[in-house]
Amino acid sequence: MKDKGLLLVVSGFSGAGKGTVVKRLLELHNDYALSISATTRKPRPGEEDGREYFFKTKEEFQRMIDNSELLEYASYVDNYYGTPKAYVEKQLEEGNNVILEIEIQGALNIKSIFPEAVLIFIMPPNASELEKRLRGRGTEDESTILARLSRANEEAEGIERYDYIVINDKVDDCVETINNIVLSEKKKALKNIELINSIRDELKAYSKGEK
Ligand code: 5GP
Repeated sequence: MKDKGLLLVVSGFSGAGKGTVVKRLLELHNDYALSISATTRKPRPGEEDGREYFFKTKEEFQRMIDNSELLEYASYVDNYYGTPKAYVEKQLEEGNNVILEIEIQGALNIKSIFPEAVLIFIMPPNASELEKRLRGRGTEDESTILARLSRANEEAEGIERYDYIVINDKVDDCVETINNIVLSEKKKALKNIELINSIRDELKAYSKGEK
């Protein structure tokens, strides 16, 4: 049987390029699964329901909360975003590393529910690069860009609470760093209790002369 997967939270300021990094990580490694969030935000041009997000009305979103279908949810620049629970649990059971691409409030909530989750914050090389990427995307109006930059400033307050900071200068380097973090995290002694116990049992058998 495959080991249980690792729950990986990837955050980063809007425009830090985390979407690109996550996409590349999924292309290069087949033992990762991306959780698709529900949101009340309207789709951007080119976005499809069930691919980028499950787009919901406020009422539908509220119903998901009431039915305990979400692992966590948070509001971000006037909209709600939440992680559907069932998919995450299934993928972890199947041994896949599950990526949650979520903002800071959600990330910290996840850490309190799953202390073994690994929180990674993706940083742009500097703030002006962030503004450039946000404007270059061309999908948001000026007031939304300013709201997102101001939200980035607020989020910068909580970054110390993440487990790792990875700079996204070159996408493939960033992806390799993240995969190395995941491989190392999986080697932690506390994540290998079953292995430790099975070797202990075998050794016990030797010491009793049963082997
Ligand atoms: P965007 O509108 O740019 O797609 O996403 C806005 C922010 O919401 C991003 O920081 C994104 O990571 C975050 N986000 C997306 N899905 C979720 C979710 O399920 N839960 C939480 N807490 N944040 C999310």
